[in-house]
Amino acid sequence: MPYPLPPQARAWQEKVRRFVREELIPHEVEAEMNGGELPPEVRARHRRRAREIGLRALGIPKELGGAGLSSLEQVVIQEEIGKVTNALGWCYDSTPPWMVEACASSDYQMETWVRPNIRGERHECYAISEAGAGSDVDAIQATARREGEVYVLNGEKWHVTSANHADHFIFQAKLEGGPHAGAHCLFFVDMDSPGVRLLRTPAYSHSYAAHHPIYRFEDVRVPARNRIGPEGGGMEFTHDWFRYERLGIAARCCGAAQRLIDEATAFARSRIAFGKPIAERQAVQVMLADSLTELWAARLMTYRTAEEIDAGADRKASHAQCAMAKLYASEMAGRVADRAVQIFGGRGYMRENVAERFYRELRVDRIWEGTSEIQRLIIANGLFKRGQAALIE
Ligand SMILES: Cc1cc2nc3c(=O)[nH]c(=O)nc-3n(C[C@H](O)[C@H](O)[C@H](O)COP(=O)(O)OP(=O)(O)OC[C@H]3O[C@@H](n4cnc5c(N)ncnc54)[C@H](O)[C@@H]3O)c2cc1C
Repeated sequence: MPYPLPPQARAWQEKVRRFVREELIPHEVEAEMNGGELPPEVRARHRRRAREIGLRALGIPKELGGAGLSSLEQVVIQEEIGKVTNALGWCYDSTPPWMVEACASSDYQMETWVRPNIRGERHECYAISEAGAGSDVDAIQATARREGEVYVLNGEKWHVTSANHADHFIFQAKLEGGPHAGAHCLFFVDMDSPGVRLLRTPAYSHSYAAHHPIYRFEDVRVPARNRIGPEGGGMEFTHDWFRYERLGIAARCCGAAQRLIDEATAFARSRIAFGKPIAERQAVQVMLADSLTELWAARLMTYRTAEEIDAGADRKASHAQCAMAKLYASEMAGRVADRAVQIFGGRGYMRENVAERFYRELRVDRIWEGTSEIQRLIIANGLFKRGQAALIE
């Protein structure tokens, strides 16, 4: 029985599903074999088609040039985007809503970075993690020292996703000196600022056109107006950002699992071993049955969390719910990918096979935007502070 999605969400689902199936999926193997790259004209076509169907700045209000979609509509779209490997779904401008909230009071920031970002003319990347600080963000060593109307930034940042496609960083540092010494602060830093240096671009498990390089920032001077939010208070919106991203990951993991179940089911029906399709073997059926059951649970959790956000859910409760959705969906997708590889047998170990690619690609969903262990800490914290009823009843 289909989930009772509102007609507009259902329309988005169908539109994006067709786009992913017809335009993106056919290029997966080519991308995989070329380190994630596709010919520029193909990339350009994907971006153009995405725009034509309305994929842009999904959570940004219409009056600012965004699509103005509800959380549920965004989740439904993300689920479809999650069905394609090699991050080929990263072909539309996805300005995060936190940017608008954080920068709304600064015309300069809105005009210089946020509005161009919404229009798809500028692209950001996040320079937060460091060699010694990932889960424990408070351990960052990066510093920001105020000198009159300028901040001097220093630090080394790891895993800066999409830096090769971006033109500015969101750089996180601790304030050195002043009344808010030790507080965290975010800054817009243009990539061509003197003192910004690309150290290296490590290889990762997946084959994506978007890289995750390491950057050094040495005495980078930025105007004080590049600081996001007030001194000592600029980090408040990061929890909004985490919720947004974690729910998106949960949705994409559901999409990946759906595709894997479809592909593994089709293969199981056609693959003959010992005289009959492996679909008729209970050992294979059990793997598919467990996968479908877990996908349903993850999807219900993800949709319901989005619906509650749209209904104005308490932010703290929502924080724990998004952590639960991300935790469960990412671990579910990992199990589904593992079973899909098993069902495909030797083919499942070939890079041209969707199960092999997802088996590697989905692994990071248990790491980035907070590891599974960190999600569990958030959930337990929510349980102790607010109680079960506030979180899941
Ligand atoms: C592909 C990729 C892209 C990324 N993109 C970005 C990006 O764009 N910008 C950015 O800033 N960062 C990015 N990251 C960094 C990512 O957010 C971190 O890797 C992640 O938060 C984990 O931090 P860490 O790697 O330092 O691991 P650590 O924090 O060192 O953790 C190591 C292990 O210890 C566990 N652990 C840590 N603390 C606890 C605890 N209290 N209780 C129990 N277990 C614990 C962790 O769960 C993990 O298993 C990216 C990472 C990857 C792999």
